[in-house]
Amino acid sequence: MNVPLKNAEQDMRAALARTPVPMAMLAELTHRCPLKCPYCSNPLEMIRKSRELDTETWIDVFHQAAAMGVLHVHLSGGEPASRRDLPELLTGAREADLYTNLITSGVGLTAAKFADLAERGLDHVQLSIQGVDGGTADRIGGYKGGFEKKMEVADWIAKEGIPLTINAVMHRQNLDRLADTIDLSVKLGARRLEVAHTQYHGWAYKNRTALMPTMGQVKRGGEIVAEARERLKGTLVIDYVTPDHLADFPKPCMGGWARVGLNVTPEGKVLPCHAAETITTLEFENVKDRPLTEIWDKGDAFRAYRGVDWMQDPCQSCDRQAKDFGGCRCQAFAWTGDAAAVDPACSKSPLHGEMRAAAIADGEVQADEFEYRLM
Ligand code: SF4
Ligand code: SF4
Repeated sequence: MNVPLKNAEQDMRAALARTPVPMAMLAELTHRCPLKCPYCSNPLEMIRKSRELDTETWIDVFHQAAAMGVLHVHLSGGEPASRRDLPELLTGAREADLYTNLITSGVGLTAAKFADLAERGLDHVQLSIQGVDGGTADRIGGYKGGFEKKMEVADWIAKEGIPLTINAVMHRQNLDRLADTIDLSVKLGARRLEVAHTQYHGWAYKNRTALMPTMGQVKRGGEIVAEARERLKGTLVIDYVTPDHLADFPKPCMGGWARVGLNVTPEGKVLPCHAAETITTLEFENVKDRPLTEIWDKGDAFRAYRGVDWMQDPCQSCDRQAKDFGGCRCQAFAWTGDAAAVDPACSKSPLHGEMRAAAIADGEVQADEFEYRLM
């Protein structure tokens, strides 16, 4: 016999099933980048310049995004400065009334180009660093002189008075320098530091034995962040989350599938998250074929895992379902072949122990050579 759901739960499910208003859009302007980071979140098969959206189409997408309620656009890549029309794109985004965040490696910018972006109203910069000294950073990024260039760019950002976030992707080969990474962020005048543990999809998955930290490193990392957060209150905000394989419950990946943000690839495909194309059972629509708002509201890929009704057990009967939305769909698909399965990062997944054991084993491998990201 079916037991009727309580009214409050019915209301919650109905609210979660409705199409929400997205807050942010990640505009991957290009996959071109001078660096070759072995953990790059771009797909293994990257989009070439000839297939990139043109200036006019991108600006139209910014206006469509703003009209559907998006507030922030992250101008990202690859390296967004690889696009010669970056200044026009920035102006287009600003004219659409979007808050603009440039996500950059710094390489490819010049003092004059950056001053022009500042003049056009750039709101925020997120600068990536691969290490805290030239030798380490340039080896990890696969680009000689990259570190020195980043220091120069940080100086221009400070002089223009534009808020700066440092993004530091951490792994076995730089996690022991976390305290120095925090000190460097303060020295560069950053207001926020994202200490991002590598996400093991795509390029990072290929390089997992060279990147996976040891348990001891991760534990020390958590302690360093806790101490620094206390010491640097009011100076630097530090974002830090425990890596998936060491947590008992998953994170609400992307704040829940198709709930708060969307991603547009260099060729115009619209994705619920940057890794979504790894789910090969889904098809993704293109802004060249359908208005953005329709893709967000009615697109099959967006509706597939929105809300909680699609869930299987254990998520379907779990009281955390509206907190973490069952974790990461890409990770569930990678481990089970079923994107609706429970994320193996969850301790209720039958694969959780296997995932943790594999990560611990990868962390103990003594292999430091990278397979660099190449187009
Ligand atoms: S992660 Fe590295 S290679 Fe990938 S886009 Fe960023 S700077 Fe370029
Ligand atoms: S069972 Fe599903 S909803 Fe519950 S904590 Fe795990 S992933 Fe989250």
